Amino acid sequence: MPLERHFSASCVEEALDVLGRRGPEVLICAGGTDVMVALRAGALPPEKRVLLDVSRIAALSGVRELDGGAEIEVGSLTTHALASQDAVLARSSIILPRACRSVGSPQVRNRGTVGGNVLTAAQCADTIPALLSLNASAVLAAPGGRERIVPLADFFPAPKRSAIEADELLTALRFPSLGPRWRGSFYKLIRRAAVAKARLSFAFLARLSPDGVVEDARLSIGAALPVPARFEAAEALLRGSAPSAELVEDAAEACAAQMAAATGKRWSSPYKNPVLRAVARRELAAMLGLEAPHENGF
Ligand SMILES: Cc1cc2nc3c(=O)[nH]c(=O)nc-3n(C[C@H](O)[C@H](O)[C@H](O)COP(=O)(O)OP(=O)(O)OC[C@H]3O[C@@H](n4cnc5c(N)ncnc54)[C@H](O)[C@@H]3O)c2cc1C
Repeated sequence: MPLERHFSASCVEEALDVLGRRGPEVLICAGGTDVMVALRAGALPPEKRVLLDVSRIAALSGVRELDGGAEIEVGSLTTHALASQDAVLARSSIILPRACRSVGSPQVRNRGTVGGNVLTAAQCADTIPALLSLNASAVLAAPGGRERIVPLADFFPAPKRSAIEADELLTALRFPSLGPRWRGSFYKLIRRAAVAKARLSFAFLARLSPDGVVEDARLSIGAALPVPARFEAAEALLRGSAPSAELVEDAAEACAAQMAAATGKRWSSPYKNPVLRAVARRELAAMLGLEAPHENGF
């Protein structure tokens, strides 16, 4: 079914008005880097007859500090280019600007948004593992002044699906700012140097006590599980322990075991299982100060 109507909203209220009247028929378009590809390929769901362009809503773009800086809000329409350069985001999240820098090409980063990336719910979406490690939540607005805040840990009920309702607009992603003593690592494993989907993407955070013990660890690996989730068994091993080569080995092994249990044996398993274990080991060792950091340019 071709699109019948096109609306361009200049503020949140206008967008919510269209969603309130035509919700299930509406396809929201932010940067359009996924939507326009699907539109041209004739791959839109048949019920989507109304295109709602939200890209002009300036209030949904940018990074803000809330609650005196304790919480960070990334507007859903913040482009990857903007997020990659944002000083507040670099300080408060460490890994999100690196994840945004790893997306596509300069053209894609200039149009594509953080909110659009999350809502593709794709296994290889680069910002999802970083936001999961940041304990981020999705802020969803709906007609009539309704608002829901859903932790990303509960936001992906099934592969390639998110929990957004047909009449909702994603307005922001929010997460607690990382305080002092946090370290992070983001590494995207790709087939070629640019414009490539992640084979695996590692978004790791850890907070070390002044005497060097791991107080907290948050590990996400994109394209490793059917539905985005944290690697909690490995996190539990790390918490309360002093960094050592054995600890890193055990944690990397726990990550590989979680992927194997969740995905079973696939055509890609002989490649992905050992590679995930090796890269997880290397990134953990670097983050915990046991090895020199390995850079892949993001
Ligand atoms: C050449 C190319 C290379 C790419 N490389 C990468 C890559 O390396 N890594 C990667 O992760 N992705 C990549 N992508 C995918 C894409 O660019 C990103 O996912 C991008 O972040 C999508 O953002 P967007 O604003 O363009 O989303 P859109 O295409 O506008 O929308 C994507 C989805 O989100 C919904 N949506 C968007 N905003 C909202 C909102 N505020 N509220 C409710 N629903 C909303 C749309 O309805 C749609 O379902 C690539 C795409 C292309 C074409």
